[in-house]
Amino acid sequence: MSSRRKFIKKAALGSVALSAFSACGAQAAEAISANKTIPLKPVKKPVIISTWNHGLAANEAAWNALKIGNSGISAIETGLKISEADPKVRSVGYGGLPDREGKVTLDACIMDQNSDCGSVSFLQDIKHPISVARKVLEETPHVMLTGKGAQDFALAQGFKKENLLTAESEKAWKNWLEKSKYQPVINIENHDTISMLIIDADGNLSGGCTTSGAAWKMHGRVGDSPIIGAGLFLDNEVGGAAATGLGEAVIRTAGSAMVVELMRQGKSPNEACKIIVERIYNKHKNHKDMPYLQVGFIAVNKQGEYGGYSLRGGFNFAICDGENGNRMEKPDFKMTWKD
Ligand code: ASP
Repeated sequence: MSSRRKFIKKAALGSVALSAFSACGAQAAEAISANKTIPLKPVKKPVIISTWNHGLAANEAAWNALKIGNSGISAIETGLKISEADPKVRSVGYGGLPDREGKVTLDACIMDQNSDCGSVSFLQDIKHPISVARKVLEETPHVMLTGKGAQDFALAQGFKKENLLTAESEKAWKNWLEKSKYQPVINIENHDTISMLIIDADGNLSGGCTTSGAAWKMHGRVGDSPIIGAGLFLDNEVGGAAATGLGEAVIRTAGSAMVVELMRQGKSPNEACKIIVERIYNKHKNHKDMPYLQVGFIAVNKQGEYGGYSLRGGFNFAICDGENGNRMEKPDFKMTWKD
């Protein structure tokens, strides 16, 4: 190839790379809440999708990480650490609401394009469980570490012990103790698990979840978020899915794995999420959890099409792509809280 042709090819590649990354970061601050999901169509990759409002800041950090050449799972870790470090996010990491004994216990998992995954559950006093989950993936022969073993591993990897119970969360726990009634308040304050999926510019998938789980849970309770197949699943040939909501219901139905299997059979991300939410509804309509049951899924397929669906209204997700920037979308839902 002549040096001029080489130069033109390089310049063209450079502009593709630049334009792929031009749309997201700067727009996060002014992102507005849309009323409905943008019609399904392939969007310009990369695509980053995260649950809830705190997904916006996480998406922006993940986008910037991709932009400077980081891998998908590095971008997942970078993005999710933003929510973990933010004490205003009362359902993730530092500042997360504690269990009924006043202990903040954390669950997280991460998965890459090769189906390698790492997970921690019931982890205490470590601010960034998503980073520990990544270390489990990279430094151990295992997928999951839990409780004291997960903490010992984190300390051996150089993580520091920190008190994660903020004064606000302690106060909320003391208020709760007055009645001590366990009734999860999922999505009422729009502060729940952050689950993130990325399809990078090359079309490779990665994903992660991190959470302090259901507030006032029993000590030792583990939700769906660190369980590969429940809170998160991806298959690089097909797509990825992730969940938020009442973890017990997502575990009972292997929710995220099922969404991916439906996409494998040709369903769109929206349709696949909807079918699994319907299944969860059917399995739970006479269940004791029904009065407070909420579940929401996000999904992205190999083409970069994305979608979501929830059992009840109130769920939203942050979506960032090279076409329309970083913004909130509200997916469809089956029923309202009054139904
Ligand atoms: N799925 C989380 C759990 O059950 C909670 C949430 O997403 O709000 O631990």
